[in-house]
This record gives sequence, structure tokens and C-alpha cells, in this order.
Amino acid sequence: MSRPIQARIDLSALEYNLHVVRRQARARVMAVIKANAYGHGLLRAADALRAAEGFALLDIADAIQLREAGYRQALLLLEGAFRHEDMPLLAQYDISSVIHSTHQLEMLDAYPRRGALSVWLKVNTGMNRLGFMPEEVPAVMARLKEHAAIREVTLMTHFANADVAAGIASQLQKFEQLASGWQVPRSLANSATVLRYPQAHGDWVRPGIMLYGASPFADRTAAELGLRPVMTLTSELISVRDIKSGDQVGYGGMFHADHNMRIGVVACGYADGYPRHAPNGTPILVNGHKTGTVGRVSMDMLAVDVSSISGAKIGSPVTLWGEGLSVDEVAHAAGTISYELLTALAARVPKKD
Ligand SMILES: *Cc1c(COP(=O)(O)O)cnc(C)c1O
Repeated sequence: MSRPIQARIDLSALEYNLHVVRRQARARVMAVIKANAYGHGLLRAADALRAAEGFALLDIADAIQLREAGYRQALLLLEGAFRHEDMPLLAQYDISSVIHSTHQLEMLDAYPRRGALSVWLKVNTGMNRLGFMPEEVPAVMARLKEHAAIREVTLMTHFANADVAAGIASQLQKFEQLASGWQVPRSLANSATVLRYPQAHGDWVRPGIMLYGASPFADRTAAELGLRPVMTLTSELISVRDIKSGDQVGYGGMFHADHNMRIGVVACGYADGYPRHAPNGTPILVNGHKTGTVGRVSMDMLAVDVSSISGAKIGSPVTLWGEGLSVDEVAHAAGTISYELLTALAARVPKKD
């Protein structure tokens, strides 16, 4: 028998969360499925999200895989082409690509084919990661519009603070001022923008995390946003023992019991993607009851306090996150965000729909 750990992927929840996006935004939906669909599995997620008008991802090989699996939707490479060899593949498989740098413009110039490519011109309105500066954009746009290989240009930007108090106002203003110069489709909205800023939905929204049923905000839960969790990571107790006041649990003596306790050991560790930096008391469900982790997370195991959970025994079901325990809550306790926990799910954890 294999280890009892498993990630259940609720595909109907994924479909449902796409409807939540549709209720918020009238725009076309470019479902973001980068990072193996935020850890949920690329093809499995794409299938559940097949009603989306497009899919955004990073790796051209993944985009080709989707085309070959029969997907006819728009496919967008969020970091664009990386090498000259990517260019003919973009045309051959009708894959759209972000263009964010002069380096990529040069790759385009070296690829002289007619009327094939669709590009998303990325503007740096304040994120300062990828994109052309607003003052560079008119010249780049002109160059793209007259380029023989380009069929369509979409103008895009990405917000740095849509999920926090600072908001999007200054970035949005820069973008709008610039975009008013052309009749082209626009795309600005990640999940936080979809949920919080209807004035910035543009023609294509680009939701990621909300599709997977987690909240982009620290101060609003996914349940409050009407989202359903998609991934539920479960395992079982593989050992239960009583310890005495003064005993310690796990590596490094990070936990010392100050009273007699019963400790359960869960078949899940950092090599499964559980965060090693989760402190004592990180929430976890045993037999459906909420309790906390104790001691340092090891590679393949972690310990939990089952003192107050009657009937906890070898084989008792454990939920690390998902249905019944929001991944946002676990992430918050561990000092990170749901994005990191979901995308860090290890390949060794079997996924089941
Ligand atoms: C990842 C990403 C998104 C999706 O962001 P979420 O916060 O997960 O909704 C949207 N746009 C770009 C450019 C991205 O890189």
C-alpha cells in the first residue's frame, strides 16, 4: 500500500469558481493555469475550465500540449518567448505571447512570417518587473502594428497592489491614459482586481487564485467571496503516543509539552509540500476536529496534538487544507500565502479527482 496522503481535486468546484468570475466580470476570461494550474494539474484543470475563452501559462511545451489535446481557446504565454526557436512554434500552434522587452521585439523582427502572431504588449505601470515603460509604448505599438507577422495586439498591465490597501489607482490611471490612444483589447485584472475593481476589468480578465478557491486578500476569506476550495490535501495518522509534561516532539526541540499530551503523527511532511516553517499550533483537522501541529515539520511526517480528540487512532483521517480548513488559514499561520502552498504540492502526492 502507498502512503495515505492524497490531494483530492474537486473539479466541480473549479467550474463553479469560474462562474463566480463570470458573475463579477463581463470580460472574456483568460484562466491562469501557470505552475501546473497552481498545483492542481494542468490538463485536469484545463478540462474543468474549458468554458474559459483562454488559458494563460508560462511554458510553451504546456501550451503545445493543450493544443495537441484539442483545446481551441486562446493560449497566452505570460512571460512571452524566451528564445528564437519559440517563434515558429508560436505561429504553428497559434499561441499568443506577451511581449515585454526589446529583446523580444528583436526576436519578432528575426521572424518575418506573415499574419500569424497575436501578442500582448505589456506595460510597466508600476510593478517594475516586466513591461515597457509607458513612454516607450507608442513606438513599440507602432512597430508591432506595422509588423508583417502580427495579427493582433492586446494591451496589458499587471497591478502590484490590487489585494492591499494601496490599491490600483495610480497604475490604472497610467494605463488608461496610455491605452486611450488605440482601439485594441485591454487586459489588467488578476483575481483581486476582478473581485475589487470592476472599473479595471477591461476586455480580458486574468484570474488565477480565485479559480482554485482561495482568497487573494488577507482580510477576506474565500468563503466570504463565495469561492469553493478545489484542492483538499488529506492524509492519516500513522502513529499515536502519549507523552509527559517536559517531553519534546520532533527535531530541534521546537516543542516542549507543559502537560501530559497525546500526540498523533501524520504521513505528510515538507517533501509533500507542507511548509517546514509552519509553527506550533498551525491548524489541522483530525477526525474532522480542528487542532494544531506540534514541533518541527519533518520531511515525511508532522505531529499534531490529539489530546482532546477522542477516538484518534492509527488511520484517523487528517485534513491538511481544503474542504473544512481553508488553505488561506493554514498559509496565514505558516507566514505565507495560499499560492505558495498550492503550487508547492509535491509531485509525489497522488492527485485524484
Ligand atoms: C499569475 C498572474 C495572474 C493571476 O494572478 P492571481 O492573483 O492568481 O489571480 C494574472 N496576471 C499575470 C500577469 C500573472 O502573472
